[in-house]
Formats: sequence, C-alpha cells, structure tokens
Amino acid sequence: MNATAAAISKSKASLELPDWLEECLKASDTTKTTSDNNDNCLICSAFKFAYQLHEGQYRKSGEPYIAHPIAVATLLRDLGGDGPTIAAGFLHDVVEDTDITSEQIEEKFGQEVRLLVEAVTKLSKFNFSSKTERQAENFRRMFMAMAQDIRVIVVKLADRLHNMRTLQYLKPEKQREIALETREIFAPLANRLGIWRVKWELEDLAFKYLEPEAFRDIKELVADRRADREARINQVVDLLQKRLSQLSINVLELKGRPKHLYGIYHKMQRQHKQFNEIYDIAALRIIVETNDECYRALAVVHDAFKPIPGRFKDYIGLPKPNLYQSLHTSVVALNGRPLEIQIRTLEMHQIAEYGIAAHWKYKETGGSSNFNMKSNDEKFTWLRQLLEWQKELKDADEYVEVLKNNLFEDDVYVFTPHGDVIPLAAGSTPVDFAYHIHTEVGNQMKGVRINDRWSVVDKPLQNGDIVEIITSKNSHPSLDWLNFVVTPTARTRIRQWYKRSHYEENLARGQKLLEKELGKSGLEALLKSEQMQSIAVRCNYQKVEDLLAALGYGEVTLNQIVNKLREDIKAKQTEITFTNSIESEVLSPPQSQTRNHPSEAPSCANSPIAGVEGMLYHCAGCCKPLPGEPIIGVVTVSKGISIHRQECPNVENNPGKPLIPVSWNPVNQNGRSSTYPVDLQIEVLDRVGIFKDILGRLSDRNINVSNASVKTSFSKPAVISLTVDLRDRQQLDYIMNQIRNMSDILNIRRVN
Ligand code: MN
Repeated sequence: MNATAAAISKSKASLELPDWLEECLKASDTTKTTSDNNDNCLICSAFKFAYQLHEGQYRKSGEPYIAHPIAVATLLRDLGGDGPTIAAGFLHDVVEDTDITSEQIEEKFGQEVRLLVEAVTKLSKFNFSSKTERQAENFRRMFMAMAQDIRVIVVKLADRLHNMRTLQYLKPEKQREIALETREIFAPLANRLGIWRVKWELEDLAFKYLEPEAFRDIKELVADRRADREARINQVVDLLQKRLSQLSINVLELKGRPKHLYGIYHKMQRQHKQFNEIYDIAALRIIVETNDECYRALAVVHDAFKPIPGRFKDYIGLPKPNLYQSLHTSVVALNGRPLEIQIRTLEMHQIAEYGIAAHWKYKETGGSSNFNMKSNDEKFTWLRQLLEWQKELKDADEYVEVLKNNLFEDDVYVFTPHGDVIPLAAGSTPVDFAYHIHTEVGNQMKGVRINDRWSVVDKPLQNGDIVEIITSKNSHPSLDWLNFVVTPTARTRIRQWYKRSHYEENLARGQKLLEKELGKSGLEALLKSEQMQSIAVRCNYQKVEDLLAALGYGEVTLNQIVNKLREDIKAKQTEITFTNSIESEVLSPPQSQTRNHPSEAPSCANSPIAGVEGMLYHCAGCCKPLPGEPIIGVVTVSKGISIHRQECPNVENNPGKPLIPVSWNPVNQNGRSSTYPVDLQIEVLDRVGIFKDILGRLSDRNINVSNASVKTSFSKPAVISLTVDLRDRQQLDYIMNQIRNMSDILNIRRVN
C-alpha cells in the first residue's frame, strides 16, 4: 500500500467512497495490468492522482474537495462513460485548482484524457451569463469543444449537476446566477444531447433556486396527491397488462411515469393552467421488446381507450434530432380523464434516459469509443447548425439569442414536395420552412401551398404537412414576418436582408438630404475631403457612408452635421460653398406653384416643389412622385418641367433631356395638405370579402380610393389594382404595411 492509499483509508472517516470506486481500487490493487483492466487502472490512478492534488482543499460545504470529483466521476460512470471520460471526471478541476499542467496529465494518462481535461478546464472559465459579447464568445468556444468531442460537454454537465446539488452552500446571489445559467444553457444542452435524467434534475434544481415559492408549492401539492394519483393509474395499468398479455406482447415495464416538478410548473405557465389541470393528466410508459410490439401495443391502447385526435406522434418512424424514439398517444381513460402514454423498446428507453451516452453504452462496444462529430455527423445536424450560425452571425446579441432559442425548441416534421423530411422548431411557419431550404427561397418567397392548397405564410406548420414554397424574383421579405417566424435562421436572414436593403435606402436618403443642403457639386467636393471623414468619426461612425445612412434614418440630424461643418470651416477656412444656407429651409415657400398644371397629367396641385420657381411644371404620370421621395426635374419641350422620382426608369431612358435639380419643400404650408395619386397592386388569396376588408381599412384612415379593380383567374392568386390618394411617402409606407399585415395578403407593391 503506498502513501496515497494509506492516506485515503485514513481519511475515510470523513470521506465516503462509493462502492464502485472501492471495488475498482481493490481490483487494481490485486490484479496486474491486463488489457481488460486498462480502464480500471486509468480510473484508479486518476482518482489517486486527484486525491493527492486536492489534499487539504475543501469545498464551501466543509467537505474535502475530492468529494466533488468523486461525485462527478460517479455520475459519468452512471451515464455509461468510458474510462477516459470517468478519469477526466476525477481530474477535471486539477489544472484549474492545483499546480499541475496539461502536459503532466498527458504524461500520466495519455492524450485523450489530457484533451478532455483541458477542454473542460477551459469551459469552466466561461461565464455564460456575462455581457453578450463575452457570452457569445464563450458559447462559440463551447460548441467548438463539443464539435471536437462531445464527451467534454457530458463531463461539464456532470460537473454542473453536482454543483447544483450542492448549491445551498453558496451565497444567494451566486446561487441565482448559477441556477439561471443552468436553466438557460445546461439543461437545454442536456436535452439536446437527449440526457433526460440530467436534464430534469438540472431543471428541478434551478427551479428550486429561481422560484423558491412556486417550487415549494408544487412539491407539496405533488406529495399530497401522490397516493390518489397512483391508485388511479394502477387501475389502468391492470387493465392494459391483462390485454397486452392476452396478445402475448412481451411487456418489460408498464407503470405510471412521474412528472418532474419544473415540467409541471413550466406547463402551467405556458398553457395558463392550474396545477390540477396539468397534474391530473396521468402519464404511463409501456416498455416492450421489439419495434413491432410497440405498434401492436399501441393498437391495444387505442382499442381499450378512445384516442384523442391529433395527439398521436410516431417518433419511431421519425426520431427527434436528439435521437429520441418512442410512440406517444393520448387517450380518454377512466372517468373521462386524459391519459398520456409512451410506448418504446428498452433500447429506445435507454436512449431517452441517457441520450448520447446510451450510445457509448450500447452501440460502441469494443474498441475505444471516440465519440466525436466525425463518426456521428448525421446524427448531430443541430450541432453543425449552431457552428454554422456562429460563423454567419457576427453580432453577439443575435448569436446568443439564436442559441438560446434553438436550444429550447421542440420539433415539428414536415415534408418537401419531393418527400424529404424537414425537422423544424415547433410553431414554425412556411417562412421558416422557406429559409430552412435556402436563404434565397426565403428572400424570394411569394406564397405557399400546404398539402396542395394555397395558404397564408404565417400558418404554423403541422407534423406531416407537405410544404411547397412559391418564389418569384420580384418578391422580397417583409418586416412583419419577424412577428411570426420562430426559427433563428429565418429571423436572422430576414433581419440581414432588411439591414442590407435599408442601409442603401438610408444611405441614399442621407446623401440626398446633404446634397439638398450643399448642392450637388458642394457635396461631391465634401465627400472626397478629409473633413467629412473626421466629422463621421466625431459622430461615432467609422465611415462616411455610415454617417450618411445614420442621417438617412434620423439618428443624426442635418443640423448636427452642418454645424460641425461650419465649425470646421471657421477653423480651417475651407472653401466649401453652401448653395443653400440652413436658414433658407425655413424661409417662405416659393411663390409660383399655383400657376401651372397641365390638365392631362395627374395633378400635383399645390405641390411645394423647390427649384421650379417661375417655371411651368407637372408631376410625371409614369412614376407619380410623393413628397418625401427623391425627385428630379426633366425639361420637356411642350410641358415645361416634368417632375419624376429619381429612380424612375424614364429618367434614365432619356439621357438626352436636360435635368434640373428639384426637391420637395417642407410640407405643412398654410395648413393645407394636398394628396397625390399612387397605384398599388395587391395579390391576395381569393377569399370572399378581402376586397371589402382592404377598402374598409383604407377608408378607416380617411384615404380616398379613386380607382379599383379585381382580377381573378383559376388557381392563381387574385390581383387587386387600386389608385389611392396619399399625402406623402410616409403615409404610403404606412398603408402598405397595414395592408401587408392583413391575413390572406400575398404581396403588395406600388406600380410604376
Ligand atoms: Mn468541478
């Protein structure tokens, strides 16, 4: 017996070793090293090494520190961890808490153990409840570690579980912080890895510290009702047992399934239900030998009790992404109460309880079970997804949000028209589906057919739906999709699209504003100057473009920029000439507009346009500009100045014609508000009454409709054409959004 062994037996009074470890130590003392005993030796020497190193260290509970690594190693052993994993459980805190280095660990225990210990050590330094930036970085590293070797996370989960079990020794503030991190990160991770046992215990422990009162209430309620509940369940069990054995179905287990406390609480919260409503739904589990027997048992259940429609789920045919398999059904049982039943084989049950760990136990027999992403690529597509998002999402907030959402979600299974199964988060809509297929499918989504029928794009998909996305080059995402999409992919892609598209819009608007102030040549000179860059920096923007975009959406004002320019001009005597001073904006409006309106052109009566003073002008009928939109004047031979939107193709198509700069004067003159005609085209599902709904919505807003028509054709969306009279661009944007938000609207656009 060496010194360590002696010390261990001496301190046994204060430290109780679990039986398995005692046996392991005994075995390694008596037998010489054989290949069978390799793991045993590795585990024992890891234990002894950790024991020595943590000697003299104590936990907050007053226990010797080694009690923690022992508990972690024991959990890992229960989960079916292999030798290196259990050894890493013993050693997971030594690099952090002692003078030992990873190199020394490799020397003694080999590279595999070193890598595990190193990765777990790194993970413990991460704080997942820290500032978003750091949090995102920490997540990124965790998923990297996971991708290399999933065992790292399993060790980390065991570590966290034991820390949660002994959380009472920490200060309340620390307790809450750790409990929250456990609920938000580690319990969902355990769920994703399918380790149900760890998941529910982590959740219940976090519940205890985060909502102590609710926890106590539910715990007491469950204890009160237990006998009653068990009596009820036993009646059903007896009946089913008899029927199943009549058909000689081999039942390995048939009993009531306890519900964990947080599960009850969470359901009460989510479904706004009382304790009784959740708890009184009894739950049963039937474990049989073969897949075939699962379905036969299901038939027995559905024969004995009335099934509740829509509640049957076949996770045997369609396993969950965390590899979970089972049949689920709900039936109306005794006294008309609902009863939830799960039917599965023993192997499925092991996977349900131990998740990925069950695969070490049952699949990877013989050889070292190096459970990494490479060998299980397909089974862990979700992990690959997380890694991909991490590459795409530069923004820390988004990434963290994406992770938290994704970790939590259950799945719904739908089909492509080709019959491919697509798993999506529960509640996913056709838009989520489209973005799952491809970014461009989402960005160009025009409509959707579900099970061969036209549908709205925000309809939550059901298991088994066949989803066909109709795309069109002219379609683009709508901001209000963000109100209903549930998958991170869809959400981030829509946002990205909008940020991109709006950036340019805003940039153009900002540029226009400044140009109006400085004149075209003044702006051009300015944009090339150092001066503008320095103003951008002084306004906290990296680039001049960013400053202009910010001006475009109103984050900085024209005044702020002009004042900064003035300061600079005074200081440096720069030669930028203002063609227009800031004061001119508030000067009286031009006097000439009331004069000339060619009658055949759409009227822009009283339109306060600057730059056409004293000239004949009219608003172009092709693009029908609105106040608030960048405009340009085209000099015509017979009709004076024709005012177009700057983006109007007719302007570019007539390069020979002279252009003159014009702009809208500030509105609100003489309290008079003019309106301008705008043509809209709306594609709708051909629903009775939708036309009336749209007109109703417009008249609610006091918007005059001067022309309207509907065109329908077989098996195509109906097309509504409207001419509405609007005050300005803002009102147009507003009303288009309003209509787009109505149900059964497929698309709305302005017609040129
Ligand atoms: Mn630890």
